[in-house]
Amino acid sequence: MKTALIIGAGPAGLTAAYSFLQETDIHPIIIEADDIVGGISRTVRFEGNRIDIGGHRFFSKSKEVTDFWAKMLPLQGAPSMDDKKLGRKTQLTPGGPDPDGEDAVFLHRRRISRIRYLHHFFSYPVKLSGETIKNLGLLRMLRIGVSYLFSCVSKREEKNLEDFMVNRFGGELYRTFFRDYTEKVWGRAPKDIGADWGAQRIKGVSLYRALKDFFCRALGITSKEQEASLIEEFIYPKHGPGELWEHVAEEVKRMGGEILMETEAVSFDMEGEHIEGVHVRDGEGERVIRPDYIISSMPIKDLVERLPRPQVARDVLETAVSLPYRDFMTAGLLVDKMEVSNETDYPTLGNIVPDCWIYVQEPEVKLGRLQIFNNWSPYMVEDAEHKVWIGLEYFCQEGDDMWTMPDADFVDFAAGELEAIGLIKKERVEKSCLIRMKKAYPAYFGTYKDFPRVEEYLSGIENLFCVGRNGQHRYNNMDHSMLSALAAVRTIKRGSKDKTAVWNVNTEKEYHEESAK
Ligand SMILES: Cc1cc2nc3c(=O)[nH]c(=O)nc-3n(C[C@H](O)[C@H](O)[C@H](O)COP(=O)(O)OP(=O)(O)OC[C@H]3O[C@@H](n4cnc5c(N)ncnc54)[C@H](O)[C@@H]3O)c2cc1C
Repeated sequence: MKTALIIGAGPAGLTAAYSFLQETDIHPIIIEADDIVGGISRTVRFEGNRIDIGGHRFFSKSKEVTDFWAKMLPLQGAPSMDDKKLGRKTQLTPGGPDPDGEDAVFLHRRRISRIRYLHHFFSYPVKLSGETIKNLGLLRMLRIGVSYLFSCVSKREEKNLEDFMVNRFGGELYRTFFRDYTEKVWGRAPKDIGADWGAQRIKGVSLYRALKDFFCRALGITSKEQEASLIEEFIYPKHGPGELWEHVAEEVKRMGGEILMETEAVSFDMEGEHIEGVHVRDGEGERVIRPDYIISSMPIKDLVERLPRPQVARDVLETAVSLPYRDFMTAGLLVDKMEVSNETDYPTLGNIVPDCWIYVQEPEVKLGRLQIFNNWSPYMVEDAEHKVWIGLEYFCQEGDDMWTMPDADFVDFAAGELEAIGLIKKERVEKSCLIRMKKAYPAYFGTYKDFPRVEEYLSGIENLFCVGRNGQHRYNNMDHSMLSALAAVRTIKRGSKDKTAVWNVNTEKEYHEESAK
């Protein structure tokens, strides 16, 4: 029987294993370096509460992906406990499980996310509304208007992301909403990031469009895009994304697949354009597995570094080992009360703010974003009626001052930041935890410009298939990661060595609304 060694039990690796079992006679063996499945999409349990590495929305344009999710966890047939208590209307699927009694279930959730800036909430993406004008103040609005008009008549040559943004929004709006946040997320100023990054990620967004939206709304004309943005819903497992991936892992084992936890791929034996063996290390030591196929969702930097040196061309090695990433820290804080309450017309348990997540633009803090897990699912919180379970997200670099801070100090620092921007009182923190996640964001600068050579080289290794987010060094969400895995299994099933379909997932250059997600 042929075997496939799958590196990583994240969404890509687990989907590949499931698909091998469903569609082929090939035996999948997953190796996972960590002691928990789900990769970045895991959910961590902490003293009765659950926390994600950044809340994970389940949303996809692919029917194959949404069908897969619904097959694993059915959609709710009865309201969740908060919807029931608050009388909120929710989409229900006849015959679906009641989340109050059953665990394996997807909830329909309303997406509310805003920006916190100048100690006020702004809608996201920023809309030109009466509220925005009031919160920013007339003087700043005037400056925004003048600098925008200036940018219309005097265009900069677009050498970097700063030029790109100033040309579209004007200098003042750029400094107000984009400059500091971009630097927080990517660790470098927009003037040190290529203009093509903007063209790819924020194409079609401009102050002109914001103005057009404003006047259309004032006149009661709703565009198709506005209509779409009003339907702000997503699905989410009762106990977070990790619940779904744990369930898929169980299915894979039940169907005969193997999952070896705390087992890491450390090096590879190659013969020409073929991987002959994968050296894996676990608690017992090192051994070699000789699979027919390798599906890799491990970071490309690590993969290329671990291939036998003489086989890898120098330029490929140099590009791959210097690929940039952003690392990520999530501090979980349980409080009995926040200092802000719900001023919207969407009711919430305990009248807490209704946001699933909040982008933090306040310049005085390093905090990038915060999650309110009560609003993702009340079942993520042990006592959702009386406590608020908040995830504070920091973008950082492995080894920097934040990354190396002792856990207790970091949590104290994070709570202090939340107090500084008026959201909590530090003494209200009852429980806390901290999670560090390496390589959460593959970045598109530095040697990334030479990435096509790496892709070409890796595609030439006939029995190797690179899938997923870090596995392709691409800003892939869960659905893209899954689709690349499905494409890899189908390519193998066809007996083909052409990896084009695998690399083609998520290459359409549309506007990605969630540029920081
Ligand atoms: C803050 C944040 C928020 C996000 N929000 C969303 C969202 O709302 N919706 C969405 O769809 N997506 C979201 N994503 C993206 C989503 O997390 C990823 O697309 C998804 O987890 C990628 O799956 P993957 O299997 O490719 O990789 P990963 O999840 O990274 O899994 C790879 C696995 O490989 C293992 N591994 C690595 N090296 C080795 C080795 N040498 N040997 C063995 N095992 C190894 C790792 O331990 C890991 O478990 C978000 C990401 C972040 C960072």
